Amino acid sequence: MEELQLNSSFATLPPQFYTRLQPTPMPEPYLVCASESAAQLIGLDPAQFRTERFVEIFSGNSILPSSTPLAAVYSGHQFGVWAGQLGDGRAILLGEAPAPAADHPAVLELQLKGAGLTPYSRMGDGRAVLRSSIREFLCSEAMAALGISTTRALCVTGSDQRVMRETVETAAVTTRMAPTFVRFGSFEHWYYNDKHEELKILADYVLDRFYPELREGGNPYQAMLTEVTRRTAQLMAHWQAVGFMHGVMNTDNMSILGQTLDYGPFGFMEAFNPQHICNHTDRQGRYSYSMQPRIGQWNCYALGQAMLPLIGEPDDVHTALQVYSSAYTGKLDELLHAKLGLQTLQPDDQKLFDEMFSIMQASHVDFTLFFRRLGEMRIEDKASDEPVRDLFIDRAAFDAWAVQYRARLLQEHSRDDVRRVAMHAVNPKFVLRNYLAQIAIEKAQNKDFSEIEKLLKVLEHPFDEQPENEHYAVLPPDWASELEVSCSS
Ligand code: AMP
Ligand code: MG
Ligand code: MG
Repeated sequence: MEELQLNSSFATLPPQFYTRLQPTPMPEPYLVCASESAAQLIGLDPAQFRTERFVEIFSGNSILPSSTPLAAVYSGHQFGVWAGQLGDGRAILLGEAPAPAADHPAVLELQLKGAGLTPYSRMGDGRAVLRSSIREFLCSEAMAALGISTTRALCVTGSDQRVMRETVETAAVTTRMAPTFVRFGSFEHWYYNDKHEELKILADYVLDRFYPELREGGNPYQAMLTEVTRRTAQLMAHWQAVGFMHGVMNTDNMSILGQTLDYGPFGFMEAFNPQHICNHTDRQGRYSYSMQPRIGQWNCYALGQAMLPLIGEPDDVHTALQVYSSAYTGKLDELLHAKLGLQTLQPDDQKLFDEMFSIMQASHVDFTLFFRRLGEMRIEDKASDEPVRDLFIDRAAFDAWAVQYRARLLQEHSRDDVRRVAMHAVNPKFVLRNYLAQIAIEKAQNKDFSEIEKLLKVLEHPFDEQPENEHYAVLPPDWASELEVSCSS
């Protein structure tokens, strides 16, 4: 473990950006789960997972000599309302692991989530429960395997220490990794406190480290807003295309790198319903599936407002934000074409997509299974429709749509075998359904961590046929509809 030499560029920012502090130890910590592919990103040998030192460090019970632990301050809009100061209320930044190889994309910061009280804990206890830690761990790694930009999760450690939520639960610490955890809310913090000097320091920090090429142009801050807006829009398209619902798209949960950040009451769409709300706490449905693209844009406007003093003119902020619509629709259009195995763009494609979503909704069709099974259709073989057709209550509606889809495939001389391979490479067979996470969680609550490991292995290859794991790709059982996930974590 001592080979992990951490730096901390964030700690070189002025002291008002964070508070230096130590994690609070957990009694008798143990390893719950760890990701080998995440470990590789920081050049850590997975053999370390089984050592006492590993558990000590990633529970916060020991501190690497090279670490400068700190909690960062930020603010944010929660559910559309200015919430004032928030900050790392239970997350502690350890420092950044150097890239393991020269050609490696990025240095990654290591952060312990659930590592105890900080000056930003407000009413919270600084802890995270095992249940939500396992969910964050599995989903971070699952999203990465789906090719969607996200923070990563190295491991979860647990303890029998009791934590009060709706019921008594136990504490856990998730080690997250990202090039930076700076959020939209980090910028809003300085803007709303009228600290324009700090605002500039933060923007320069982000620009120099993550967007250095944007220094070339005339207004690098405007260029940065444009780029963050573009990435956020594209991220929303990726979420929609895979049926991912974040659940708490507050501006303090929006990464300045356009990564998926802060996994709480997230969900993957099952029976298709665009109005689906995955977060039980979100009564109004502000963060429902169909709202996500608009909220992504709303959040970019909040960032634009905060960056106004740096950019100069409101018009320049507006110009930057304008990239959102085309970036979102362009990316979504591209992803939908790929999901349907279409290689050309035709004028009526939007109509084909709209009608598809409309019949999926009417028949409550499982989102993941629909696209996966669609890849099995063969143009000249109507019997090949059966697996996907079976998902519909209204089979006639599907048949009518399939006539249009076949005609569309014929129009571009689509080849069944080629299309099937291409569609299976973009339409996952395996996603983190709530009930699958729930089974792994319930076993883990009884100290059996084997199901987390199994599920992780399945989700690391979401596009592969895994004949031995077919049961991870079936419709959810009836009891799954009773599952509720909320902000409680
Ligand atoms: P979230 O909704 O998870 O993004 O959390 C919003 C804010 O509340 C963040 O600043 C968190 O750090 C803080 N927070 C959430 N849960 C806790 C907790 N148990 N203890 C302290 N702070 C927390
Ligand atoms: Mg958060
Ligand atoms: Mg959270």
